[in-house]
Amino acid sequence: KEKVVECFRQIHLKNKRLNALISQTDSQMLLDQIGNKNGRLRGIPIVVKDNFATAEFKTTCASKILSAYYSPIESTAVRKIKEEGGLIIGKANMDEFGMGSFNTNSFYGPSLNPVDPLRVCGGSSGGSAAAVAAGFCAVAIGSDTGGSVRLPASYCGIYGFKPSYGSISRYGLIPYAHSLDTVGILSKDLNIICDVFDVLKGKDELDPTSIVSKERKEILEIENLRIGVPQEYHVDGISDAVLRVWSQTLEKLEKRGAKIVPVSIPSTSQALSAYYIIAPAEAYSNLAKYDGIRYGFKANGDNYKDSLFKTRTEGFGNEVKKRIMIGAYVLKSLEKSRFYVAAQKVRKQVQDDFDRVFQAVNPLTGAKYENSPQIDFLLTPSALDVAPTLEMTKSKDWNPYINDVFTVPASLAGLPAISMNGGNENGLPIGIQLVGQYGNDLNVLEFAKLLS
Ligand code: GLN
Repeated sequence: KEKVVECFRQIHLKNKRLNALISQTDSQMLLDQIGNKNGRLRGIPIVVKDNFATAEFKTTCASKILSAYYSPIESTAVRKIKEEGGLIIGKANMDEFGMGSFNTNSFYGPSLNPVDPLRVCGGSSGGSAAAVAAGFCAVAIGSDTGGSVRLPASYCGIYGFKPSYGSISRYGLIPYAHSLDTVGILSKDLNIICDVFDVLKGKDELDPTSIVSKERKEILEIENLRIGVPQEYHVDGISDAVLRVWSQTLEKLEKRGAKIVPVSIPSTSQALSAYYIIAPAEAYSNLAKYDGIRYGFKANGDNYKDSLFKTRTEGFGNEVKKRIMIGAYVLKSLEKSRFYVAAQKVRKQVQDDFDRVFQAVNPLTGAKYENSPQIDFLLTPSALDVAPTLEMTKSKDWNPYINDVFTVPASLAGLPAISMNGGNENGLPIGIQLVGQYGNDLNVLEFAKLLS
């Protein structure tokens, strides 16, 4: 009870400035619920990203087009949290429909970083990360399509876990790019992430892409681990501070007996471009249903076509419209093989590159390679630098896509990954990313514990 009261106190003090929550519940109502329910998440205050369908709150995806939308269904993730006694405190700000890396593409305005409110908190699950870092909740649910849980976790100095694709049901998570979308978990406490993952994972009849989770947890001993360092991740634009934290982490591991192995993921340089073709192509199709008739906001026009045009022009923000146009373009019959098909080939290449370096065989592909460096995990930075200031993201020279370079490859391959705080530069957190083979979610979490 005291913890929940403290969360509300922090929300009261800081949410106006940080803008992390789009909706929140009544504190007394939530406190009354604590006594009622038992379960593995009993009494744990939880914030949920606003692209998960919830019964009590509106579900806006931080878009004008859904700004008054109440879903008739509840997402499986939220249902399971409630069944286990978790307390949903509110819904988190985000980049509209999950499109963005800095939470600056929200209809409700940017969410800011609790570590330094002149800086952004990252995106697209920015409100979720800010809510955790500011003490509004013990754990937050986000979604990660190309890095949306890991990047804000890195900027806010907390843990952000993206499980293997399919290991948590996406039912009721409003799709952005469904072949990449995953349900992620953010917290300062790794044990809570493990508990929430344990509750959420598993097959769900309502999501045909969800999988029966095979427990592949091993007792890890650092001195037996082989840690891969992808050489291609030494990209242009990586800051000295990030390089320092990355090598310090590796040195620490080496001192504790782990073997550090340089490896090659040759497709790295193409992965970002492939992602920014595949994700918009899927978004183009997933967002076609917002026509002002079936869902949410409707602008009046002279006829169906006119009102459809006005609804989408006024209802979507600029970044979403840009992605829809890119999606339409790369799927046009004449351009399809140049862009969409080429991107799918890169995606396959990324999967093969990862399969080649891991010791564990990918249960989805079964591929075995000779001369594999046989590593257990990859260890990379999560972002190019510390969180940028809000001002920097407005500059015309700012490239909003390049920061996804380290997170997108694991998304294309569907692999489990976690960002954890590795160090600081002038008090600003720097994240380190651990990536494991498909299905090795529990091992990735165990490894993160060993590193903590
Ligand atoms: N920044 C990436 C994008 O805009 C990833 C977003 C996400 O994971 N939802 O697509």
